[in-house]
Formats: sequence, C-alpha cells, structure tokens
Amino acid sequence: MNSTVTDYYIKRFEEGLSEDLPGAVDRVSHLLERLGPEDLPGAVDRVSHLLERLGPDPFGLKPSSATLEFLDKDKNPTNSVDFGLWDNAFGPTNNLLNDPASAEPDIFVGADSRRFFIRLVDKSAVGKGKLSVDWWTEKDPTPGTSIPLPVDMPPANSVTCIETPSASGTFLSPSLMLVTDPFDLDHASTPSGLGDGKTFTRGTNGYRMRLGSMFGNIVAEYRAGGTSVTAKANVFGRSPEVRRQLPLQIFILRGLASVPALSTIFNIDLPFIRLVYERIGLFAFTAVNPATPADDRRKGGFDDTVVLVDPPAGFSVFTGLTKDQARELATSNPGLSSSGIPVPMADTIRIFYVGLLNPLTDNGVYYGDGGVFDGAVFVANITSATSTSAAAHEMGHALNLNHFNPPPPLGRYQEKQNLMVQGADMSTFGTVAYPGRLWQIPGGDGSQNQYDTIRKSKFTRPG
Ligand SMILES: [Zn+2]
Repeated sequence: MNSTVTDYYIKRFEEGLSEDLPGAVDRVSHLLERLGPEDLPGAVDRVSHLLERLGPDPFGLKPSSATLEFLDKDKNPTNSVDFGLWDNAFGPTNNLLNDPASAEPDIFVGADSRRFFIRLVDKSAVGKGKLSVDWWTEKDPTPGTSIPLPVDMPPANSVTCIETPSASGTFLSPSLMLVTDPFDLDHASTPSGLGDGKTFTRGTNGYRMRLGSMFGNIVAEYRAGGTSVTAKANVFGRSPEVRRQLPLQIFILRGLASVPALSTIFNIDLPFIRLVYERIGLFAFTAVNPATPADDRRKGGFDDTVVLVDPPAGFSVFTGLTKDQARELATSNPGLSSSGIPVPMADTIRIFYVGLLNPLTDNGVYYGDGGVFDGAVFVANITSATSTSAAAHEMGHALNLNHFNPPPPLGRYQEKQNLMVQGADMSTFGTVAYPGRLWQIPGGDGSQNQYDTIRKSKFTRPG
C-alpha cells in the first residue's frame, strides 16, 4: 500500500470529521481492513488515537453505543466471575437438576452460588424482544506474546438475551456458569433458561456453560451493523487477588506393581486434583526439593515433577504401609518452605503414593496428628482413574477439612457430591454427581465452611 495514499485518507478523515463522518468512518474501516498491518503502524496509531480522543461512538453509530457487561449472581455489574460450585445442583436421588420445565432456582445453573449473567443495552434495538450475544473463555497470553489463547470458544457460542423489561432496549441472558472440568460439559445439558422447554448440549448455541481457566478471562461480544462491542471479566478477582497457590510434593514408592502408573498420576490424578481445587481459586502445582537427584525425578503432565522414593525398611505388599513406615517416609522427605528450602513441617502438602496401606482396606489416610505428618497424605492404589480421587480427598483433610457428613439441614447440599463425603458412593462415579465438589456453606462434621477453611490453611499461599 502506498503510504501517500494512506496519509491522504487519514488526513481526509481528520479534516472531514465535521462534515461527512459516517462515510469517513466506513472508509477508514475499509481501508484498515484492506491494508495489511505491516505497512500501517503509523496510520493505525493515528486513527486509534483519533478515535480514542473522540470517545466511544462519537457519531452515534450503532451498535458501538451499545453496552455489554457481566453481572454477578445478584445482577450487579462485576469485573470478575468464579467457577460454578455445583451447590444446590442435585436432587435427593443424586439427580442433576436440569429439567427445562423447572423454574430457574430449581435448575442447577440458576441455583449455583457462582452463576452470572450478561447484560446488553442497545437502545437502537428497542422492541426487538431478543438478541444474540457470543461468549467464550480465554487464557492470558504466554510470556512474550500478546494474544490471549482461546480456552473454550465453540463455533456455535451464542446465548439468547431477552429484552427485560420489554421494549426497554436492555437484554439479559439466562444465568451462566464456568466449569473447570471438561467432563462436566460432556455430561450435563442445560435448559435454555428461556422457558421454551428446550435443552442444549455442549457446542450448541444456547449452552450455558464454558470451560474456563483461572489464568484467564471470560469474554462476551455483541455484533450488529458491521461493528461489535465486547465485555471482558477476569476469572476470579485480581484486585484484590483472590487466587491462591497450593504447592504439592509428590512421592511415589519405587518398583511396586500396586502403585498407580506414572501416566495415571500425571494424566488423570493430578488433573483431577487440579480441577477440584481450581474451582475455588487454588492453583495446585508440584514442587521439588532442590537436593533431589535427577535420577529420582520424573517429569510429565502439566510441567509436573514427581519424585521416586524407595519403600521404607520392612514394607510388605502383604500388609501395606504401616503408620511407623509412613512416619519414616514423611521424616526423610520433608516439606518445603515458600522459598523451596526443605523444612520439616513446612508449608507444602506431600502426597505419598504407596500402593497399599495398612489396613489393606484403606484407600488413603491423613494421620492428622501433626509433627512430621503435618501436611503428609498417603494414598493406596485408588486414583481418579478407577474411582474418585482419594488423593484430592486426603488433601482436603490436610487442608483442615472434616468429613461432610451429615449434610446441612437447609438447601440442596447432598453430601454424596462433596469431596469430603466419608465413603464415596461408587454409583455416582461416571456422572457429574461424583464426589468432588467443595462448597461455601457451613456443613458436615463441625459445620465447616469448606471454601473459607481451606483458604485459611497455611498450605495455601497468596497467588
Ligand atoms: Zn476422609
């Protein structure tokens, strides 16, 4: 592109503002579209500055005068959303509440304490009754780049917003929800929320859930008349920072057939742990004692490192790991301080995959009597590949959680869907009713609020 011509158009645009603006904007837009970015840095900057100086929609064109925003569960504007907690989501028979004939508070998305909404105001569309808005999730750009990466951006990604009240030019989406677990998306359809009896599955317009990342945002976009308006909200609040870190050290007894395969730990158990705790804003990552020999380290999964350790003296597959042997393991493999220095009873959670526990019926154990056992959990051969994760449950104990039995007397907090249920019900495995949820309501043994309790644990750090 000839830069003289570009300059002419820019100049013409600047001079012509007062006389023939709509035409000028169109022409500049077309010009920018036709030009590649490589020969235009100056021009783009100048037009951008000009438009910035003029403010949004200086010419009263539509829909750039439209506004789009995210609303929290009480329909107040918000710049952050959290993952759905699946609280109030299940009926007494562990059935997911998603009957399109039900009212919103009796549908799991509408009942979730982390539900949110999209609100569009377009005064040029008064009386249209409904409008469509696209929405998706993205991850922050990787260091050195500037483009966010899509996390869940299906080709059909719209939701219908209903003019509320009628003839107001204000359009409201049904309640929406973010999840950390792709399994949830594949196994939970959502009613439209429009009272039309329709239900949608993942990947279709009108579906009311998206996979999100705690290191990203949620985005909405409304397009009309060749232009668009977008809204963005962080996943979890950033100021103040809501997210916290959850450092894990993982040890695996060497050379035992009963110990889960490394690939199972990397690709199934660790991701399960991660998505359970990401739901409440905790980033679980693996940490390693700097003194660990390279030969004992194994890397995999999400840039994770685990450590192979020898079984303690006297360990037998016929009796399983005894408490004394567990103490020996915990003593010789201390936790790490926040600076990575090995310190007995420091602030990392240690998961020991030992294959077999004594008694052999135990899937996992947190001794919970302090000392070298502080933050140390022991897991037998049960992983989220064969059942729900014993490791995530035992970690909950290390994070000061009691069992979630009995359930709270009020609300629909069925204990069977809680991570901390004692004695998981295998009939829920393979459905979204699996025991992996954590809630922010007093319940269970000691009436603990799980969200608040975990976040106060010394094993979580500011994000
Ligand atoms: Zn337990």
